[in-house]
Amino acid sequence: MEKQTFIQTVGEAARKDMEKSGVLASLTIAQAILESGWGTSELAQNANALFGIKADGRWSGKTYSKETQECYDGVNYTTVTALFRAYSSWDESIADHSAFLHTGNRYAAVIGEKDYKTACYAIKAAGYATAPDYAEKLISLIESYGLTAYDGDMQKEETIMSNSSLVTYTNISSHKNSPRNHAIDTITIHCIVGQWTAKQGCDYFATTDRECSANYVVGKDGSIGLSVDEKDRSWCSSNAANDNRAITIEVASDTKEPYAVTGAAYNALLNLVTDICKRNGIKKLVWSTNKSDRVNHRNGCNMTVHRDFANKSCPGTYLYERHGEIAAEVNKRLNAGTGTENPAGGSAMYYVQAGAFSKKENAEAHAKALKAAGFDTMLKTFGGLYKVQTGAYSVKANADAQVKALKATGFDAFVTTDGGSAAPTPSYIEYTVKKGDSLWAIAEKLLGDGSRYTEIKALSGLTSDTIYAGNVLKVPAK
Ligand SMILES: [Zn+2]
Repeated sequence: MEKQTFIQTVGEAARKDMEKSGVLASLTIAQAILESGWGTSELAQNANALFGIKADGRWSGKTYSKETQECYDGVNYTTVTALFRAYSSWDESIADHSAFLHTGNRYAAVIGEKDYKTACYAIKAAGYATAPDYAEKLISLIESYGLTAYDGDMQKEETIMSNSSLVTYTNISSHKNSPRNHAIDTITIHCIVGQWTAKQGCDYFATTDRECSANYVVGKDGSIGLSVDEKDRSWCSSNAANDNRAITIEVASDTKEPYAVTGAAYNALLNLVTDICKRNGIKKLVWSTNKSDRVNHRNGCNMTVHRDFANKSCPGTYLYERHGEIAAEVNKRLNAGTGTENPAGGSAMYYVQAGAFSKKENAEAHAKALKAAGFDTMLKTFGGLYKVQTGAYSVKANADAQVKALKATGFDAFVTTDGGSAAPTPSYIEYTVKKGDSLWAIAEKLLGDGSRYTEIKALSGLTSDTIYAGNVLKVPAK
C-alpha cells in the first residue's frame, strides 16, 4: 500500500473516530504509521492490529502472539514474547485504540487535547510506549505528512464554540439570541448591583421573567459563571448591535454608588477578560473615556459600557473609573504571553490632565466646571496635588483629540502618561452636635445602628461618652 493511500485510509477512520472519542486524528494516524510500519507489520497484516496494544486480563477478544522489543531502562532493548490484541479490521483496531485510551484516567491528558505536540508528549508521559523518543517520532511524522489536515473539524469547532475554562459554575439562560450575528470584538463590563456569587447571578438570569442575561457573571468571591455561551448574544447592554459583538460580563457589586466590587471579583474579572481576549484574537484592549470613541469603535476602541446605551449609571463609578486600568493590566498580560514588549505603545496609558490644585475644593470646583461643559472627570492625587483628568486612553491620538476639544471649549489641558492614583473618597463625614444629641442617637440616625456609636467615638478621638452641642464629630461614611 502506498504511503498516501495508507494515510487516506487510516486518516478517514481516525477523523470519524475523533468525533466520538476526542482522540486527535493526527495522533492516531502517526501512531498507526509508526507502530505498523505503514501497515506492513506482522501485527497489521496477520492480526489487523495497527497498534501494538497488549492483550492483558481486561481483553476478551482475539489475540496474537509475537516477539517484541522493549526498553525498560531508557537505553537497552530486550526481546520478549507478548500477547497482542487482534481485530477483524483496521477500523476496529482504531476504535479499540481510542477505547484503550479512555480506560481509567491514565490517558486523560490525551483525550480532547487539540494541540498535536501536546498530545504526543502526553501519550508518551502517560507511559503508552517505552521508546524514549516516541513523542518526537510521532511529531516528526505529523509534520512531514501534514497529518493535522485530519484534525481540521476539531480545531474549527474550538474557535467557534469555546467558552472560558475559568468558569466555575454554568447555568445557561434562555434569554439570548443564538447564534450572535457578529464576530466577538468588544468587551462590556457591568455591575450587577448586589454582592452575589456567580451561581446566584447565573441562577437569576436562568429563572427571572425579566429579559436580561450576560455571557458571564463574576461573583463577589471570585467565582466565574457562564450564563450565555460566547457563541450566543446575551441580553445585557440595552443594545442589540453591541451585545452581538461583545462579551458581556456582570460583576457582583455593592448596591449603591460607587457600586464597588470586591478584590476577589476584580482579580477574577482581570483573569476572565484576559482569557476572553486570548481565545477570541483580541490582541489589545482599547478604552476611551469619550463615549463617541466607544460607541463608534473609533481608533480601535473595543470596550463599551451600559451607560452608553441606556440612561443608567452601570457599570458604576468604581468600575467605570477602572476601565483604563483594566485595559492596561490585560494588555500587559496579553503581551507577556507573546513575549512582545509593549508593541506600538502597548499597555501605556495616556491621561488628559486639565488642571492641578493644592486644595481639593478648588480641584472639585474645576471638575464641576468641566462636567458642566460635558467632560467626564476623574480626581487623582499625585505629588501632594489634586489633579483633574478628563480621560484615560490607550491610544495617544484619542488623548490628543480630547485635549483639542478641551482647548476649543476654553480649558487648558495636556497629555501625560502619569496616571496618579484615584483621590480617596473621605472615609467619614463631619457632624456638628446639636442640643439633645447623644452618641447612640447619632449612630442610630446616621448609621442605622445605635451600637455603632463606638466607631464614632474612636474616629473622633473621644475618651468619654459625653458630648456637647457644637462638638464636631467624625462619623464613618458607611
Ligand atoms: Zn449593566
